[in-house]
Amino acid sequence: MKTENQYIIAYKGLHEGSHDFIFNIGKSFIEKHEFLEARDGKLRADVNMVKSATQLVFAITIGGFIEVQCDRCLDYFPLEINFTGTLYAKFSGTTGEYDGEVIVLDPEEGEIDLKQYFFESIGLSIPYRKIHPPDRNNEPTCNREMLTRLGEHIVSGESKNNPLQDKLKDLSNL
Ligand SMILES: [Zn+2]
Repeated sequence: MKTENQYIIAYKGLHEGSHDFIFNIGKSFIEKHEFLEARDGKLRADVNMVKSATQLVFAITIGGFIEVQCDRCLDYFPLEINFTGTLYAKFSGTTGEYDGEVIVLDPEEGEIDLKQYFFESIGLSIPYRKIHPPDRNNEPTCNREMLTRLGEHIVSGESKNNPLQDKLKDLSNL
């Protein structure tokens, strides 16, 4: 099976009623979607599709983790993702219309690609500020070595832009 087609549900041949699907989302998907700013991950999407004559209703949960960079210490950590959502696919209206919750399908098409929905749902689950999860004392479990190095970097950065030191350097060059 080609990677690009692995999030497609071919609903045309399926009977009306409930159908369950499981999709695995891994590194290749994460890497392809640079917008997620993650370097790895392991997620599972559970999709329940209820098919009727006029529409398809998808109840979707996505769980697992993606490896993102911590805003505080800049080290990578596994960020837990727990998403639950519903997607409606209707067979009437302007084909191709999609507002994030309702998509209009051409009944002749016969299949739906959930790739974009998965990508957007994962994106929506990422908090604005990504920090290592807290320990028992409610302190972020950051990489101490990285924090120390960052601390040193900040200090040396400050001294580099210290105008007084620049002036002294200029004087010593005279
Ligand atoms: Zn951190």
